[in-house]
Amino acid sequence: MPQSAEKILDHAPLFREPEYRKMLAEKKLNFECPHPDEIVSDQRDFTQTWEYREKNLARKALVVNPAKACQPLGAVFAAAGFERTMSFVHGSQGCVAYYRSHLSRHFKEPAAAVSSSMTEDAAVFGGLKNMVDGLANTYQLYDPKMIAVSTTCMAEVIGDDLHSFIQNAKDEDSVPRDFDVPFAHTPAFVGSHVDGYDNMVKGILEHFWKGQERTQIEGTINIIPGFDGFCVGNNRELKRLLDVMGVSYTLIQDASDQFDTPSDGEYRMYDGGTKINEVKKALNAEATLSLQHHNARK
Ligand code: SF4
Repeated sequence: MPQSAEKILDHAPLFREPEYRKMLAEKKLNFECPHPDEIVSDQRDFTQTWEYREKNLARKALVVNPAKACQPLGAVFAAAGFERTMSFVHGSQGCVAYYRSHLSRHFKEPAAAVSSSMTEDAAVFGGLKNMVDGLANTYQLYDPKMIAVSTTCMAEVIGDDLHSFIQNAKDEDSVPRDFDVPFAHTPAFVGSHVDGYDNMVKGILEHFWKGQERTQIEGTINIIPGFDGFCVGNNRELKRLLDVMGVSYTLIQDASDQFDTPSDGEYRMYDGGTKINEVKKALNAEATLSLQHHNARK
């Protein structure tokens, strides 16, 4: 074997070793139904031609838009815009690793989110136990002020009911009864990250506003910035402009500090975000302005 405890090879040099070359060649031959090399090479040459380019541009029935991601990603981004809020995604770990890496890659900042780590047994019998244990761990380990729960495909396909699961988890003392655990069902096979953002913001507002009396405070407005990959700069400029104009406002969901923490050697799991007290008070604003139409359909 090319690999031993004294000589650990990274994957690229490892897979260039003769044993792996042979194994990969056999795999290709026996399992991948490969085309002959000359067809592959002809096809590669064809993709360089003007004819291929024209065919691609003439395509009408298909729109490829890789900038669409699934709903829970939007929910994780939305939750990052509230004070000391940990995103808890009920579903599989791999999905949540994707949201974290996607947001980290874009913002060049760590992006925290936990999952209930559902596996095969939870997919068959339901993920209640994962929720009970997961909420307890999140509360104990990460010291959040709020845990915002969303779902991946798996939890939605089997129909896990977040409302009753969270109640059950509270009955089992996973988190204190009065601890804020807003939630949103975010089926990833419907809509996109934009709908996930919308659902999560609605879930958080509903959690704090439902059943509350509204006493309108004149002259204050709410602003929902929406899923904005440039929120760090945009939200700060927006706040500056509003301050200059002397407007009394609440930004509902503001991830500008969370995704731009200072490089001073100290890791901040939470930074900035709309304060929970502000979210409660925002019910009384005179108006609410959504800056992105599709981000506030709910
Ligand atoms: S589409 Fe479904 S399986 Fe894929 S990352 Fe999103 S939630 Fe997970």
